[in-house]
Amino acid sequence: MILVSACLLGINCRYDGGNNLNEKVLKLFLEGKAIPVCPEQLGGLSTPRVPAEIIGDKVLDKNGKDVTANFEKGALETLRIARLLKCEVAILKENSPSCGVHYVYDGTFSNKKIEGMGKTCELLIKNGIKVYSENEIKKTT
Ligand code: SF4
Repeated sequence: MILVSACLLGINCRYDGGNNLNEKVLKLFLEGKAIPVCPEQLGGLSTPRVPAEIIGDKVLDKNGKDVTANFEKGALETLRIARLLKCEVAILKENSPSCGVHYVYDGTFSNKKIEGMGKTCELLIKNGIKVYSENEIKKTT
């Protein structure tokens, strides 16, 4: 079973109430190969929510509120689901402060990306799960 960012399946869990539907990820789900998770919702954040970015070791929302604990809880709950389902691979949404695999926003809320990974991606990799972005699906099949 492949763990996937829920927004890639068209689920409206993104901070702005939208989604990032990706037909290739949806196909994997329809074939019974994928399970959706949204770490930010699992971490107790609402939808819609104020956008957040990684700044140093912390995650702050655009109003300056420290939401690091929510992001850490979401990462742990996602890991718990991955273990329950024995997922060895995940496909996560690039650029997100939870799910980003190679890039995240730079913490200035000005739409600039830098190399880095989201809190959930980091925890999954530390625990031996192979994580790919939605741009690397070929590597997962
Ligand atoms: Fe999508 Fe991940 Fe953001 Fe949830 S936390 S909306 S799954 S990118």
